[in-house]
Amino acid sequence: MTHNQSISYDLLINGEWRPAKTGKYFSVENPFNGEIIAQMADADESDVAEAVKSAESAFNNGPWTSMPNSERSKILWRIADIVEDRSMELGRLESISNGRPISETSSQMSVVASYFRYFAGFCDKIQGSTVPTDSSHFNYTIRVPLGVVGQLTPWNHPMMIASKKVAPALAAGCTIVLKPSEWAPLSPTELGNIALEAGLPKGVLNIVNGLGPIAGKSLAADPRLGKLELTGGTETGKAVAQIAGTNLTPLQFELGGKAPVIVFDDVNLDDAVNGCAFASFIASGQTCIQGSRAVVHTSIYDKFVSLLSEKVSAIKLGDPTNPETQMGPVVSKQAYDRILGFIENASSDGAKIAHGGKHPQGTLLKDGYFIEPTVLSGVRQNMPIAQEEVFGPVVCVIPFDTEEEAVSIANDIPYGLGCSIWTSNVSRAHRVAQKIVAGIIWINDHHRLHPAIPWGGFKDSGYGREGSYDFIHEYTAPKYVCVRVEPEGFDWYANPGPGQRLN
Ligand code: NDP
Repeated sequence: MTHNQSISYDLLINGEWRPAKTGKYFSVENPFNGEIIAQMADADESDVAEAVKSAESAFNNGPWTSMPNSERSKILWRIADIVEDRSMELGRLESISNGRPISETSSQMSVVASYFRYFAGFCDKIQGSTVPTDSSHFNYTIRVPLGVVGQLTPWNHPMMIASKKVAPALAAGCTIVLKPSEWAPLSPTELGNIALEAGLPKGVLNIVNGLGPIAGKSLAADPRLGKLELTGGTETGKAVAQIAGTNLTPLQFELGGKAPVIVFDDVNLDDAVNGCAFASFIASGQTCIQGSRAVVHTSIYDKFVSLLSEKVSAIKLGDPTNPETQMGPVVSKQAYDRILGFIENASSDGAKIAHGGKHPQGTLLKDGYFIEPTVLSGVRQNMPIAQEEVFGPVVCVIPFDTEEEAVSIANDIPYGLGCSIWTSNVSRAHRVAQKIVAGIIWINDHHRLHPAIPWGGFKDSGYGREGSYDFIHEYTAPKYVCVRVEPEGFDWYANPGPGQRLN
């Protein structure tokens, strides 16, 4: 919704846009120039409770769960079509709020559409099974939707990550309360308008913007949820798990990462450098599977650092809404300060800045939260920069001598989300892939994503997977039905004594 040339959104509850009960709004800033670009209704506990009530009522009483499965599928397809038709406009909404270049954000809308289309295909394919047992009972299962799903989503891929959760939940027949990140809420909130236009019944998708510790926490704490999903930081995951744990709410978490890019000495160096630049600096390095550590064989180490520095020095920084821009600012002042703090500390710890490391020059860039793409060499494994998630445009280049050492460095972190392996030796590629503790491994590539692949990690990167054939079952539970088919009745107490079958 656009009012007076600025953007403003209310809360989507029961199919209607309405202000927060307090009447409060929070502002969204453009990280490129500090301008306030939008006002969002600021939900508190009572608004979130109202949204869950609406989702619960839509699940129990609405047309959604009784609708023919193929009709649900058509609605998901329509959402996909609208997203694709409006990809430039939706991409722009993201670029002005999270600073990612429009070339990235608008292109990502095709991935959003693909999630809706992929899961649309499941609407009429969720089926149970018949279960043979030793008795003469006829046993079968049906899969039932979990009910209201709470979804907490981040700002770095606002629409895509929301869609990775919304599409399968809808396909399974669940209803939803979505709380997007306060930093980039525009595109996931616009998804509400798109869903209504596509014919989604009221109350099926509710969207409550607000602050994590208030709106997010209230959603996590609501005992009416059938499932809670979070994509966000590991610390948020731990806090949310505690809150939701009191209600035994089933959880699915996609959390932080610290992906290694392992480069062996038999590789085509240009390909590996190009791949590492993409892995490390797409989205200004603000992705969970960012190639934040290039683990490079000693024999090519110096050459790699020099070629990577040369490569990233050519990345065009600028206004994220300009199609020519290749890298925008980071999302916020807090992020900017945190990332520069990491670089400064790494430098004090003895790391060498091979490229970048500071705010770039240039009048156009002076008001934005820009940080040069930064390449650090001389990083040791025990430095915080090699262990913690920086979530910014910084890559550490770490040397190794043997394959065992490469694997050990790659695994020696609290996270286990993504990893890429660059080598021309097929046996080595698969051998190393098996030893890496990560949910997603790319060989001679990085950051490839498709709705058919399972996405998720081990250790502090969370649990559960998003996407893939299996994932649809994460939104349903089997219900077992046991039918006695024998003509005679059953009387346990007629023949007392041991030796009979009890169950
Ligand atoms: P946050 O953890 O800060 O926030 C994620 C969501 O949780 C937001 O909606 C946030 O609201 C909400 N939230 C924050 N605090 C609480 C709380 N106490 N209770 C309930 N909800 C809360 O993550 P970011 O948005 O900063 O995203 C970056 C992080 O996400 C990185 O660590 C990144 O690795 C991870 N990520 C993981 C992915 C994966 O697939 N594994 C993919 C993408 C990102 P608000 O914004 O209002 O604070």
